[in-house]
Amino acid sequence: MRKETSTISENVEVLRQTIAAACTRVGRNPDEITLVAVTKTVPPERIQEAIDAGIRILGENRVQEAASKIDRISADVSWHMVGHLQKNKVKKAVAMFDMIQSVDSFGLAVEIDKRCSQIDRVMDVLVEVNTSGEETKFGVSPQEVLDLVARISQLNNIRVKGLMTIGAFSENESVVRRCFATLRELSNEVKAHISGVEMQFLSMGMSSDYVWAIEEGSNMLRIGTAIFGPRQT
Ligand SMILES: *Cc1c(COP(=O)(O)O)cnc(C)c1O
Repeated sequence: MRKETSTISENVEVLRQTIAAACTRVGRNPDEITLVAVTKTVPPERIQEAIDAGIRILGENRVQEAASKIDRISADVSWHMVGHLQKNKVKKAVAMFDMIQSVDSFGLAVEIDKRCSQIDRVMDVLVEVNTSGEETKFGVSPQEVLDLVARISQLNNIRVKGLMTIGAFSENESVVRRCFATLRELSNEVKAHISGVEMQFLSMGMSSDYVWAIEEGSNMLRIGTAIFGPRQT
């Protein structure tokens, strides 16, 4: 019998099966795919349900909101910052997050580097790219990526681990796929031209477009709605 609402653990299970099926179709190993559960607006009790279902990386888009949850979740999980980060929040952010996926300027990278050096740590980051050209989206333009990654790679307390993008806000499959293909091509360009930078992660794909993202080479998905249901905002 079909149920009206599914539980978080059921959602995680369906998600894993869909990821595995997409990987099989394109000859990839599902173990390559890192799943980040995006927990913005989700209360700690429900986050705990996802952790109980095997989720190990949580993504938040606001420093303040993340701070209140990190204190209340005792499990051994990693936290990723996936939203736009203001320089005046960097000091707090570097003390909380294991990765910052939304580096979109050299100035922000310098601030992260400075604050990390003060607490003697190295922060893993992704450079966020605006692959859709939509004005509402953050991220550097594709043309700026090589130069920005090269400059960040000179800093000691920040380490570029890949690229991140949000696909176009469109139901047109080819338009969305083009965004993901652009990120993959940029990652390959960085690998070819900048030494000493490990392009380990291609963070692309959300609830509405993660299957396309996998088919285009994503190895890090950021999924909210498909795990926790629609957000009340
Ligand atoms: C909210 C958010 C997600 C998850 O979006 P869903 O559509 O709910 O899966 C992924 N990435 C970023 C940057 C987000 O802000």
